[in-house]
Amino acid sequence: MEKVFDFDSSPDAYTADAAVLCCFDERIRHAVQKFLSRREILHPDMVVVAGGAKTLASPRNDFERDFILEQLRMSILLHKTTRAILMSHSDCATYGGLAAFGGNRQREAEHHRQELQRAAELVRARFPGIEVETYFVTFEGVFSTSGTIKKVA
Ligand SMILES: [Zn+2]
Repeated sequence: MEKVFDFDSSPDAYTADAAVLCCFDERIRHAVQKFLSRREILHPDMVVVAGGAKTLASPRNDFERDFILEQLRMSILLHKTTRAILMSHSDCATYGGLAAFGGNRQREAEHHRQELQRAAELVRARFPGIEVETYFVTFEGVFSTSGTIKKVA
């Protein structure tokens, strides 16, 4: 093998601060990363897939949902994760974007609140004892839909 990039990473084992399920949409990536680090989630197991929490709330098929649940199970098993952070975002193409809600941000947000709640119920039922937080990411910030945390600066 030929080294094509020189970069040092910590080889130390870690306990994951959370398993984070979010969409692969590049537009929200920076906001998600900033939000997690502000919340001192410095060692997340990132599960980044099209639709994020949609894969649990409204999966396209059983395979999709089971694959994601398996990723969470592996995070718990391998990295002792005790917290799951489930996210969806505004204008997500897997939902047909904001256009699917007639451009109505309130309607979109309400739909996502329900989706995130359903995803959280599934995770809680499958992994009793795990702490679940749900967030809706917009182009203006991150909104808690579980109402469990205070605003982070
Ligand atoms: Zn998306």
